[in-house]
Amino acid sequence: MKPRAAILLVRISDDKAGDAAGVGRQEDDGRTLADRLGWTIAEVIVENDTSAYKRRKVRLPDGTTALRTVRPGFRSALDKLASGERDGLLAWDLDRTARDPRDLEDLIDIVESRNPRIPVTSVTGSLRLDTDGDITMARVLVAVANKSSRDTARRVARKHEALAAEGKPGGGGFRGYGFTAEGHEVVEDEAKVLREIGARILGDWDGWTDEQRGRIDPELGESLHSIAEDLNYREVPTATGVPWSGRSVGSVVSKASVAGLRSHKGEVVGPAVWDAIVPKDRWEEICLRLAQRAGTTDLTLQRWLNGVLRCSKCGRMLEGSHGNGGPRYWCATPRGGCGKIAVKASFVEDEVERQVLDLLSRPKVLHRLQRVATTEVSEAARQELAEDEEQLKELARMWAKREITFAEYREARSLIDERVKASRALVVSATPRILRGLLAGDVQASWKRLTPADKREVILALIPGYDVLPHDRRYGNKFNPDRLAPIKSK
Ligand SMILES: [Zn+2]
Repeated sequence: MKPRAAILLVRISDDKAGDAAGVGRQEDDGRTLADRLGWTIAEVIVENDTSAYKRRKVRLPDGTTALRTVRPGFRSALDKLASGERDGLLAWDLDRTARDPRDLEDLIDIVESRNPRIPVTSVTGSLRLDTDGDITMARVLVAVANKSSRDTARRVARKHEALAAEGKPGGGGFRGYGFTAEGHEVVEDEAKVLREIGARILGDWDGWTDEQRGRIDPELGESLHSIAEDLNYREVPTATGVPWSGRSVGSVVSKASVAGLRSHKGEVVGPAVWDAIVPKDRWEEICLRLAQRAGTTDLTLQRWLNGVLRCSKCGRMLEGSHGNGGPRYWCATPRGGCGKIAVKASFVEDEVERQVLDLLSRPKVLHRLQRVATTEVSEAARQELAEDEEQLKELARMWAKREITFAEYREARSLIDERVKASRALVVSATPRILRGLLAGDVQASWKRLTPADKREVILALIPGYDVLPHDRRYGNKFNPDRLAPIKSK
């Protein structure tokens, strides 16, 4: 039976700035495959698989809760398949979306809950769940997730080491801004932009208007955000075609290649065969300046509602950023967001703080927090540890029976080992510690003393987050608290 209302699941990760652009391509590929298979796609879900998400307690379809890496897109796909609202899942690369074997098990549970099974397939991989054999293979595939790409990465790395030693360009992958993809020749237009960025950071650019210059402290230089805005305004293209962001401005200019140096794995290994765009000592000054600034501009630390606010238009998490009217949270387009929802940071932080303090005055809430602070999370983590140790045994058995190769065994083991480490960390996790500190004395006063990162931990222990609704013009410049709709925990 062919799905008549299938989900197409695509993903963005934060390891490549250009990934957001890739979502369109993933969707195209998915739709092409759906046409070929005769599936009807009813909905495209974009998974924002970024490190902004970490492991939290989630409610499973069977009503129990467990610790999972939070992948809201994947979870909502599971819910819709479980409820029958959707009848098939076409993922772009399911083996990476369900990277955690536990995610895969949840999916298998749902797929097997129907007879015939809910059809599942993916564009890139060969992950299918049609038969018991498929499912066994899927378990191995996910357990050794990224294995093939890691093997490739290793092969490429060896080649790169050899090239690096000779100071030759590495080739492949993304074209570094300022250089041609082949031969690593300097692209003069881009070199000019790189020199400009450097000068603006160092505060000695001669291109500022008097008005701009008046706004800049030459001691501090111009902010990356402001440089990015100006480059976008002037329609200066990036290497990938996505607009400039503060992050990309800082990243292109701090690449060692800009100073005519060859780096390998983030370390400068010596002079390169190509010309420097910015002289080495000046480039070092730029990097130093950026490093000094980094301590003060890390918004993920200041903006404690990162990971708490969700865009009501597209379902992505809002991010703290600098807007024209000061700090704000918005559905960041450079990160694949729709850009339609933005809210002034101080408005929403004040309102959430008010709600949190109200919650913290209720005995029932305090009681619940008390429980989280003591047993609940570490219990779940302990159980995970036990499951992981069981899985390690299972893997060893598969290897012994030659169902997997030693290389596969080793890869899978290293993945599980990583998780074991995380579970152990969670057993002595920060959240219980923070909550214990919060609950020890005057709760309201303790809240005020929390660091932004700790505040976020407390919020996430209290509520699943908020959907941020669009601004209603009738409110003018005032903030309407009704824009914050609590996300219902399912
Ligand atoms: Zn959005």
